[in-house]
Amino acid sequence: MGDSEQHSAPSTIRAVTGEVFLGLKNLFLPAFCRKCGVRILTEENIYFCRECWSTIELVTEPKCPRCGRPHSRRVGFEPIENFMCSECSAQKLWSDSVHAAGLHADVLRDAVHLLKFKKKRLIAAPLARLLLDGVRGEMDFGSYDVFVTVPLHRNRVKERGYNQVELIAEQLCQHVPELKLQPALRRVKDTPSFSLLRAQERHELIRNAFQVAPDANIKGKKVLLLDDVLTTGATSNECARVLRRAGAQAVDVIALAVARRLD
Ligand SMILES: [Zn+2]
Ligand SMILES: [Zn+2]
Repeated sequence: MGDSEQHSAPSTIRAVTGEVFLGLKNLFLPAFCRKCGVRILTEENIYFCRECWSTIELVTEPKCPRCGRPHSRRVGFEPIENFMCSECSAQKLWSDSVHAAGLHADVLRDAVHLLKFKKKRLIAAPLARLLLDGVRGEMDFGSYDVFVTVPLHRNRVKERGYNQVELIAEQLCQHVPELKLQPALRRVKDTPSFSLLRAQERHELIRNAFQVAPDANIKGKKVLLLDDVLTTGATSNECARVLRRAGAQAVDVIALAVARRLD
């Protein structure tokens, strides 16, 4: 897949106009990096300078293919193949694989926070790019019949004004036209903010929180499910369970970030 740029006259004019516009905007409305405070001169990461954005810790191999978490690095050893972690071996998982781009820490955590809680919708574009760069080497996007997002309860959508996962999904679809986004899942149970809950409580609360939309045809389909952050994986696992129960042949999960392993 290539975003090869063609340097035709109109695109050059657009680029120059864009630069002039950006220059003027920077002059009158200077933007500063949310992490280090330096003045931002390019808009590619919206609220972060290039240097801070480049500190985002990407998920590296070896990792667990079932939860997407990297295993701790073994300094001095040859790279080893991905293998399932002990947590995943011990529980019932409904998704077939999980692919996350980065670790939920520092700049990536801050960027997701801006999108989720500060109404900074523009950050969806660089986040989607990060996700795509992180996972596209290991995925065949054209092989999925259905692309779904983890839905928010309508109360949350009302409160926030949008579903942040959908914003990421729309951006992904612009880069990957093969993805067929469908509102196949609904959230029928509102749950309190998860950040303060323990893993066990999360699993219990999320149970039966989702339904497959009545008009969605999932039977025998290969489904790609998108979430923003995977903390315990309880939410995406519950979505995958509902999709599998509705007859999905396979469910793979992609996410912007995954929480670091606690060990
Ligand atoms: Zn910075
Ligand atoms: Zn695992």
